[in-house]
Amino acid sequence: MKKRVLVTGGAGFIGSHLCERLLNQDCEVVCLDNFFTGSRENIVHLLNNPYFELIRHDVTMPFYIEVDEIYNLACPASPIHYQYNPIKTIKTSVMGAINMLGLAKRVKGKVLQASTSEVYGDPEVHPQKENYWGNCNPIGPRSCYDEGKRCAESLFINYHTQNKVKIKIQRIFNTYGPKMHPNDGRVVSNFIVQALNKEDITIYGDGSQTRSFCYVDDLVEAMIRLMNTDDSIIGPINTGNPNEFTIKELAEKIIKMTGSASKIIYKPLPEDDPKQRQPDISQAKKILDWEPKVQLEEGLQKTIDYFKTII
Ligand code: NAD
Ligand code: UDP
Repeated sequence: MKKRVLVTGGAGFIGSHLCERLLNQDCEVVCLDNFFTGSRENIVHLLNNPYFELIRHDVTMPFYIEVDEIYNLACPASPIHYQYNPIKTIKTSVMGAINMLGLAKRVKGKVLQASTSEVYGDPEVHPQKENYWGNCNPIGPRSCYDEGKRCAESLFINYHTQNKVKIKIQRIFNTYGPKMHPNDGRVVSNFIVQALNKEDITIYGDGSQTRSFCYVDDLVEAMIRLMNTDDSIIGPINTGNPNEFTIKELAEKIIKMTGSASKIIYKPLPEDDPKQRQPDISQAKKILDWEPKVQLEEGLQKTIDYFKTII
């Protein structure tokens, strides 16, 4: 019998890659999405597959279905989108977690939470290990996302200890690749779209802040490996590419790779923008036998090729 898998946020960037990969691994996939930042285009090629089902639903509302596994990805991930309606963002993380944990409890299934490096806030420990508690501003503009995701982690741990729900917490670091929305607002898609459109490349701040970018195929591989670990493994586990770049380096690389005539311009740094971010992935290496295979230039090339086809 095929495994039945629910992917919330399945029409989004990472979710659509995950749905496709699960179908290729002989699973039956139910994709739940409210299409806030996701789109039908991301999954349109899967709609003819009899083992794929698309359901428009909001994860803040209870949802009844019989499944073996749940990947809980529903939540806007780009700062401009999660700050558009911050109360809704908190509801999505918190009530979404409660609804998916309740579902997992009822069906005695496994549930994986797409958590984030944002739980470390603007980190004072570098690189970040899973045992670092983070440096988050609970009342700043990013708090709807950071605290929502932190509360979701707490809910996951407590449903596990109190109700014996089988959980997995994955802390995802900056991930990029094809199927990011052109207006997503995150740095990789912004810079590529600006470079291809010969518009100015907008660096926020002086560009000395760092991020470590993981190609989506690597990330999805880690996600499925984590779900498939035995029940004693609950995480949190960092997953990301530990190669760290400044935002200025990223801009220069994208200008070079696209051969663009775009100029770099500098805009104000958003409040509470983390200064540095790099995952310590020793846990993922040990437990999942995983490390990223696609390095930045190769991943950027695939992403640039994708954006060339849609703009
Ligand atoms: P995305 O915005 O492309 O995908 C999120 C999906 O969730 C979208 O399809 C959106 O429509 C859907 N959604 C949002 N609110 C919903 C709701 N209330 N009910 C149902 N569906 C809802 O973002 P992504 O990059 O694919 O991120 C997926 C998950 O991974 C998110 O939970 C995000 O927090 C997490 N994550 C992503 C990154 C990254 O760099 N991409 C980093 C850390 C964590
Ligand atoms: N950033 C930038 N220009 C942009 C978009 C983002 O300089 O057009 C910066 C942003 O300020 C941050 C980094 O790039 O320092 C990564 O931003 P993103 O929104 O992609 O992710 P996050 O801040 O959540 O890691």
